[in-house]
Amino acid sequence: HSPGGEALRLLFNGSCDADVNNTVAQATFNEKKWIWVEDKKAGYVAGYITKDMGEQVEVHLNDDSIRIVNVNETDKMNPPKFDKVEDMADLTYLNEASVIHNLRLRYLSNLIYTYSGLFLVAVNPYQKFPIYTDEIIRYYKSKRHHEMPPHIYAIADSAYNEMLQERENQSILITGESGAGKTENTKRVIQYIAAIAGDSAGDSSNTKMLGKLESQILQTNPILEAFGNALTIRNNNSSRFGKFIRIEFNSSGQIVGANIERYLFEKSRVTYQTPEERNFHIFYQLLRGASPQLKSELLLDGSLNDYRFTKNSLKDIEGVNDSTEYQTLVDAMNVVGISENEQSDLFRVVSAVLHLGNIEVASSRNDQAQIYETSSSENVCNLLGIPIAEFTKGLLNPQVKAGREWVTQARTKEQVLYSIEALAKSLYERSFFALVDRINKAIYRPKNSSYFIGVLDIAGFEIFKQEEYKLEGIEWKFIDFGLDLQPTIDLIDKANPVGILSCLDEECVMPKATDKTFVEKLHSFWKDKSPKYQVPRFQQGFILQHYAAKVEYKTSGWLDKNKDPLNENITKLLARSSNQYIASLFSDYLGDITDNDKKNRVKRGVFRTVGRHHKEQLHSLMQQLYSTHPHFVRCIIPNEEKCPGKIDVPLVLDQLRCNGVLEGIRICRAGFPNRLSFNEFRRRYEILTSGIIPKGFIDNKVAAEKLLDAFKLDTSQYRIGSSKIFFRAGVLAELEEIRDTKL
Ligand code: ADP
Ligand code: MG
Repeated sequence: HSPGGEALRLLFNGSCDADVNNTVAQATFNEKKWIWVEDKKAGYVAGYITKDMGEQVEVHLNDDSIRIVNVNETDKMNPPKFDKVEDMADLTYLNEASVIHNLRLRYLSNLIYTYSGLFLVAVNPYQKFPIYTDEIIRYYKSKRHHEMPPHIYAIADSAYNEMLQERENQSILITGESGAGKTENTKRVIQYIAAIAGDSAGDSSNTKMLGKLESQILQTNPILEAFGNALTIRNNNSSRFGKFIRIEFNSSGQIVGANIERYLFEKSRVTYQTPEERNFHIFYQLLRGASPQLKSELLLDGSLNDYRFTKNSLKDIEGVNDSTEYQTLVDAMNVVGISENEQSDLFRVVSAVLHLGNIEVASSRNDQAQIYETSSSENVCNLLGIPIAEFTKGLLNPQVKAGREWVTQARTKEQVLYSIEALAKSLYERSFFALVDRINKAIYRPKNSSYFIGVLDIAGFEIFKQEEYKLEGIEWKFIDFGLDLQPTIDLIDKANPVGILSCLDEECVMPKATDKTFVEKLHSFWKDKSPKYQVPRFQQGFILQHYAAKVEYKTSGWLDKNKDPLNENITKLLARSSNQYIASLFSDYLGDITDNDKKNRVKRGVFRTVGRHHKEQLHSLMQQLYSTHPHFVRCIIPNEEKCPGKIDVPLVLDQLRCNGVLEGIRICRAGFPNRLSFNEFRRRYEILTSGIIPKGFIDNKVAAEKLLDAFKLDTSQYRIGSSKIFFRAGVLAELEEIRDTKL
């Protein structure tokens, strides 16, 4: 290890409570036969065998209790010298118990990153460690992967160097449940790359002296988070959209631009949040942080409790000051180059949404909707630049086409409230999408771009591709984690026979279709035809077999959700708004649309149903990812209380089972999971032989080969690489045992 690596290891390794650190001391370990015993509550507990009865063993557990268990419920324990290994592929015994033990030991020593063969595993610390400083960035710059302790910077650095060396696009796929740390790690990747690959001359590893483009790229984050993140039960700063950030480089590795693609925005949060959650941050930031002058321009004279879309939500985030965050947001927009006028357009939409929520709809005697109190509607129309008379008429008595005629319809209170909420959601979503486009305009300069590194920050996403893992000249065929997923993907995605999404789209354009006809159609296509598809016993819906579990989908409301629920009377008004920004958000509704137009537009893809749009987006993402060299980061949420220093073993095990880490380890086991450099191998095991290696200088590789011969190891048990030897599971453990008896 380089001095850099050792120094960092000292720096990172915090205290660890003695009890965990010292599960079993080396001396004690050698005396007894230590194992892990499965335990419902703790996951696994340590113990040693006191009686071997064949299929059953009597175990003395660490809490001094005695248990008789089946050997199937036990796992072998690694000698203590493997405690806190940096790469779990190096463990001699690769089993669930050892993996969780290792992650836990490391986590409690403040070591949140651990390699696991192909993956970097990152466990959310829920506290700030000083591991993301400029100094640490310098440590990682251009170092070899395993020289340095595991870190997200090491992954970013490999991606960058491999891009330049292999002349190939790279991707870093950061996955995990909500609250696991995806977005934090994504930010660190961008921070690292901006620091080491700046376009400014000289040493740019000082993040305070970044070039303009790098600063802009970094500052896109507070903007996207203000408008796209919210407090949820699991995460105080939960991204309610997925994103793929592509950083573009020229051939000498300098950043020339970046591009952000967003996926699956949770617009329903605009109009409804549970009492423990919040609306998007911007609502709180604006109401708490904007100057009185700006607030009066935006017609915002109330506070959070005065607006329906914020008043029932939680108000505060622990440790966060919304007013300060507002200032951070404005500063960020200034850096990115979003002008004051553009900023006020964005805020205008937020204010209009708040006022939309306050429109009071009453019901007249014959069930007709009425608006008696007009101040909120007036504010909405002022802010959005549309005439109030037409707006009110469009809401209460819209013109709809019946056959060839236009007729005026009366609406009920419920219908009007529904269309107001649909409008609020759509307005906010369209503005968010426009914001992402605007940000891209500032940072995307496709000229001179030779390569990219893409960073994917999205929940529940898997890449389904056979991976060839080239290391040390030995090819490891990685069995595809996704092979058995393909039938499920087909089921969702396929055009022929009709998959779930296509079927949904078809039903949406059928005149008499209902949720019921939709699900019946699905059953007729898929029941008994795919092993992954099942019909539920009670509910109207279907059951899909996903990677880890079966999921039941209830289909009520799907048809409506997949259709565009917007009131065209209103959207056409908005398309002609006197405010240019608002008009641009609804420009797809400009002009009168004939039925023929509609058909053509469907064909050209102007009107794309929601499900279809997501599918196409994900498809294009997959195409991009397939062309890259991928790097995998698996984020783990340690507990559900956002609590530092606490690791809920069953919760973590569950994630490791679902995210492929344990699967990856099983696959590793079938290969050559343990590795030692020639040098290390010789140093450790030369004492097991006498006189095999001649005195005087001899090349480490030659020496290692002589040792292997002397040990009479079957050649199927190892492979010789260019600097290391790779062993099948258990081989090194045997050598270690022999060595221990000799010492
Ligand atoms: P996700 O994007 O997976 O939903 P986040 O990245 O938003 O999760 O992380 C949730 C919260 O956990 C963050 O707001 C932060 O407080 C904390 N957190 C996550 N990763 C780290 C980390 N590496 N260092 C410090 N805090 C972290
Ligand atoms: Mg996130």
